Amino acid sequence: MMIAEILSVGDELLIGRTVNNNAAFMGKLLAATGIETQWLTSVGDQMERLVSAIETAWNRVDIVLMTGGLGPTHDDITKDALCRFFNVDMTFHPEIVAEMKTRYKAREMEMPKIVNNQGLIPAGAELIRNELGSAFGLIFNRNGKVLIALPGVPFEMERMMVDSVIPFLKRFSGEHTILMKSIRTAGIIESKLVTEFRRLDEVRQLAGVAVLPKLTGVELRLTVSHDSREQAHQIMERAVRITREDIGQWIVAVGDVMLEDVIGAALTHMNMTVSVAESCTGGLVANRLTNTPGSSKYFIGGAVCYSNEIKHSLLNVPAELLNSYGAVSAEVAEAMAEGVRKRMKTDYGVATTGIAGPGGATEKKPVGLAFVAVAGPNGVVSEKVLFNVDRQHNKKRFAQASLNLLWKQLPQKYRTLAQKEVDHEG
Ligand code: ATP
Repeated sequence: MMIAEILSVGDELLIGRTVNNNAAFMGKLLAATGIETQWLTSVGDQMERLVSAIETAWNRVDIVLMTGGLGPTHDDITKDALCRFFNVDMTFHPEIVAEMKTRYKAREMEMPKIVNNQGLIPAGAELIRNELGSAFGLIFNRNGKVLIALPGVPFEMERMMVDSVIPFLKRFSGEHTILMKSIRTAGIIESKLVTEFRRLDEVRQLAGVAVLPKLTGVELRLTVSHDSREQAHQIMERAVRITREDIGQWIVAVGDVMLEDVIGAALTHMNMTVSVAESCTGGLVANRLTNTPGSSKYFIGGAVCYSNEIKHSLLNVPAELLNSYGAVSAEVAEAMAEGVRKRMKTDYGVATTGIAGPGGATEKKPVGLAFVAVAGPNGVVSEKVLFNVDRQHNKKRFAQASLNLLWKQLPQKYRTLAQKEVDHEG
């Protein structure tokens, strides 16, 4: 199997001005191509350190993928660094400059002089065309190893990766297959999930298992790496089957499917509808439900009911409930869910009410306390949530809890309809 390092170049990465999305994009594509990225390095625009980073990468992996610093200005030093490292001179490619002139002309613009620098290419490098910009990519193929340098501009790099680099690397790296599968769970925390997963060791014999807690539920990611594509698929199937048998009750979806997609598939199938009444989540639940394409079939509407008056006048929550239990209570959450269900004439009504913080806590009701409720054909249920990180996180977690409660109210046989089995593989 081929091993890769991604080397990102640019001062702005080091000071946090640019998030290294290029590395994430490349890492994903490499994994899907059966190439294992073992190092991810960022280095600034400084010659000695850049040459040293190139040398380190070249010595420890088979494939070095660089982005950034290929432009024509003085702070773009990647080409010079490559000349130094490979001990070659710069050569001038008039055809590159001629092509740039044609492109500028087509846009009725004069080519700035500085673009002439784009014709300078380290000797011996193969070129990768850049349809969207002026910095061509470079390939150095030496002694069974390869270094590829691409521009830093994300959309240029992405196009070149997909059109040229990946096809090249597929030929270069041979048949190896890496398969990845996401298994999404809901309603269970990481430590409990790992405890309940009694056959985890058995699955680990077959696949790499990453446990990734997210605000949208804990995700398991299985990775199988094998020289035979067919065997890789068989091993993955076995690993998924064991996982399902063991912790199936918490699995929402296998593949890149969100909880709201699963709910949407179920509601569509049952020909049923949903509405939401949100206090502390301020519209997040409606936002998530409408992230699913086709949600207009089952999502009727939502109301953000922040004040007690609106909870009363719009959702018909009795004033006595609000006064005696307070807005953040199971009783009010349930009344909100029933109220919106009635008001919007839907099969299900979802409600959230809580204290997102940082203010608003009382002695008995801390920040991070929320109640979520779902009213449906079989009555109304509610759940207490206690979770505090900060306002934004809390809101997301409350929204997740309400969707999870809705999901649990759906008939078992419709709960996993959206399990489109999406593999990432190469
Ligand atoms: P050009 O000079 O042709 O624009 P370049 O190779 O010189 O390309 P840079 O100047 O390093 O590229 O970066 C151009 C822009 O691309 C940066 O301003 C930044 O917004 C973005 N960029 C660079 N590196 C990354 C990265 N690793 N991840 C995400 N964005 C990046």
